[in-house]
Amino acid sequence: MLNLDLTEEQQLLEQSVREWGARAVAPRIHDLDRAHQFDRALLPQMADLGLLGSCIPQKYGGAGMDYVSLGIASEELEYLDTSLRVIVSVHVGLNSLTLLSWGTEDQKSRYLIPQAQGKKIATYGLTEPSAGSDARGIQSVAIKKGDRYVLTGEKMWISLADVADNFLVFAWSDLEKKKQRDPNGISAFIIERAFKGFSSGTLKEKWGILAGNTGFFKMDEVEVPQENLVGREGEGFKIAMFALDQGRYTVAAGATGLIRACRDASVSYAKQRKAFGVEIGSHQLVKEMLAQMESDYQASRLLWMRAGSLKNAGRRNTKETGLAKWFATVASERAASDAVQIHGANGYSDEYPVGRFYRNCKGAVIYEGTREIHKVMQADYLLGYRTDRPTRCELPPYA
Ligand SMILES: Cc1cc2nc3c(=O)[nH]c(=O)nc-3n(C[C@H](O)[C@H](O)[C@H](O)COP(=O)(O)OP(=O)(O)OC[C@H]3O[C@@H](n4cnc5c(N)ncnc54)[C@H](O)[C@@H]3O)c2cc1C
Repeated sequence: MLNLDLTEEQQLLEQSVREWGARAVAPRIHDLDRAHQFDRALLPQMADLGLLGSCIPQKYGGAGMDYVSLGIASEELEYLDTSLRVIVSVHVGLNSLTLLSWGTEDQKSRYLIPQAQGKKIATYGLTEPSAGSDARGIQSVAIKKGDRYVLTGEKMWISLADVADNFLVFAWSDLEKKKQRDPNGISAFIIERAFKGFSSGTLKEKWGILAGNTGFFKMDEVEVPQENLVGREGEGFKIAMFALDQGRYTVAAGATGLIRACRDASVSYAKQRKAFGVEIGSHQLVKEMLAQMESDYQASRLLWMRAGSLKNAGRRNTKETGLAKWFATVASERAASDAVQIHGANGYSDEYPVGRFYRNCKGAVIYEGTREIHKVMQADYLLGYRTDRPTRCELPPYA
């Protein structure tokens, strides 16, 4: 059942992340963003707060939190800067939670435990230069040779590509099915940076999330032991979609935090800045933008909390998580645009944070399902073209 009151543990988490952020991140984020610098020193601090293993049970090295706590952490992190929430989205949402549900005990002990403890950083590689929304369009292949798979291909636009140690990677293991675009020919693998034939780089021309790392990686006949196949052969597409249910949830909650950051900065500015002899906040059209931010914030929060409580109850939530992600990210773009507008010319300068919010918000309208893909998904549910079938991952990980 949806409970909007935070538990004591959830309140404590919110407070801890806020205090840490105000001390360790807020004073430096402007400079990190300007310098396009990913600060690795923040990772152990996030691990100490339990954020790198938030929803992972303690027996696998995690903090054993529930899903609403993961949402709270995501919202607080993106209130500071999108780059921090992205770390949780890929490391916990897309990678670790997937290993928890789909990984073998051996994979959990070799990969999940060090990841949940923050000793190893992980990400997720689905997108390729020629395929994003159309995941079946990927070209990477995994050819079985004895007790290994040989992976060849290139992944593009991967968060933490140049930082992560472990990668959850998707490739065609059945070349006949590849020709027919049958998704049952895709498999999922764990690759380590140290594997021979692996190389990565950072995308330098990116214009948002500048304090984050986004890049590419190449697999040049990377030999992957068959113990690193996640799920069964041919289950990769299903696993990739399962992972997105968790990643999108963190994106939804994060975008909600970004709306709140826009709202707070705008309220503060509207009370300081004067035009026509009065605070700009007393002009009706400025009030309208502030009121819209508040309604978008509250609605986005309700949507991610609903998705989180479904996850806590072990119920299917693909539709609700998708709606929360779509609504919050689109609303965050509106909030960031209006926050710049309220700041006038000052909003057009890096002296104020709203320009950074504006640059950062757009990525989330694109990744983990574009705005259009989510619209199609919601309409397809309405039309009955799409139904969710329960899979063996139905239960929440901590259950
Ligand atoms: C900052 C950032 C970080 C990212 N991190 C990761 C990551 O960690 N791992 C990863 O795997 N990927 C990551 N991505 C990639 C991201 O998931 C893809 O960019 C996204 O899925 C969209 O794919 P695309 O860019 O190829 O756009 P395309 O799929 O080429 O789409 C282009 C346009 O066409 C529209 N379109 C496409 N198909 C349809 C359709 N059927 N109906 C209507 N409109 C359609 C899209 O909505 C979009 O407007 C990241 C992207 C960014 C920007």
